[in-house]
Amino acid sequence: MADASRVIAMHQSRFGAQGVVFQAPGRVNLIGEHTDTSEGHVMPAALDLRTLSVLSPRTDSTANIYSENFGEQVSIDLQKLPSSPRQHWSDYPTGVLWSLRQRGITCGGFDLTLAGNVPSGSGLSSSASVEVAVAVAVLDRAGAQLAKPEIAKLCQFAENNFVGAQSGIMDQFASCCGVEGHALLLDCRTLDYEALPLPEQVLLVICNSMVKHSLSDGGEYNERRAEVEEGVRILKRYYPEMQTLRDVNEEQLQASKNEMPEHVFLRCLHVVTENRRVLQAAEALREHDFSSFGKRMYEAHNSMRDNYAASCAETDTLVELAAKQPGCYGARITGAGFGGCTVNLVAAEHSEKFVENLRAGYFQATGIHAEIYLSRASDGAGPLLRN
Ligand code: ADP
Ligand code: MG
Repeated sequence: MADASRVIAMHQSRFGAQGVVFQAPGRVNLIGEHTDTSEGHVMPAALDLRTLSVLSPRTDSTANIYSENFGEQVSIDLQKLPSSPRQHWSDYPTGVLWSLRQRGITCGGFDLTLAGNVPSGSGLSSSASVEVAVAVAVLDRAGAQLAKPEIAKLCQFAENNFVGAQSGIMDQFASCCGVEGHALLLDCRTLDYEALPLPEQVLLVICNSMVKHSLSDGGEYNERRAEVEEGVRILKRYYPEMQTLRDVNEEQLQASKNEMPEHVFLRCLHVVTENRRVLQAAEALREHDFSSFGKRMYEAHNSMRDNYAASCAETDTLVELAAKQPGCYGARITGAGFGGCTVNLVAAEHSEKFVENLRAGYFQATGIHAEIYLSRASDGAGPLLRN
């Protein structure tokens, strides 16, 4: 666990100074997958899995950054910031420093310890939680203040333009702006958001298939984005006023079906229908109607599997098993896809049995031990303790 007092003590013994502690959560996306990059709607919740950052100032211009998770320390000269990544975990913190500099925010040297319990590469956005945990600590060091959505944007800028992963704004936004006990309905075009209550009687159960993806090595994630962009180029011939798939409805897309390769049509169909499902799911949550919320989750999973082609056998198995359990309202693959986690909305009173059955069923079907996390929605990033 990323237990604060332990991490503070670790920082103290490594760097000989008491640091200021910040936290930034990972997130789970309840519904709205691959819609953020089309400026559409998403519905993430911040988790109580998080990255802690402990920072103490130095008198020179060196940034020493230690990651407990990697058991490794890097040193960066803040006056000679690298301008390109080196395929290393330190690309994320370095990218944030680089991004801050683009906005004219610089600071003196510091020692920084990072420690997190967001599983890495599993679709719960450990990368955003690291970026945001670094950003809030360094902003404090710089004596600078930025609104939370601005912090999210500068972390996304780091991930897109320094690390080189073409992720949308959702991860960093949820990590910055999460609200305890609520999911966030976020409009990725305007960044308008609404906190929708997730009452105590339901729990988020996250099942890690233990099948890994890696966004920063590009691969299928960027391929899907390119396919969507191809669809947009074709659609623009017919709807020149559109900017992204956000501006197209299902009828308009269907009318252009024969103008594009089938797989391109299917990728676009996922995005267009997913936007609609998010809004329907939000309406269900406003009415405390968890059954219809769950129905949208199942539909979203099927679309990720059949249209976006971003599920895999293991996550399909987890969803099929979940659907058979008492008290499970809905289940779907969450995150970029190609493995990672499923998210399940489960009645709190059934959650214990749910976890037990899923673990046993998944092991029986695949021979894999799933990791399962129970979480309530948490607050976004900020200081943890003031010394
Ligand atoms: P996800 O965001 O879904 O967890 P990514 O591939 O986007 O997966 O990000 C995972 C990467 O983030 C790791 O490979 C590592 O480089 C970085 N990272 C995550 N957690 C930490 C940590 N505690 N310390 C340092 N780097 C981390
Ligand atoms: Mg990530």
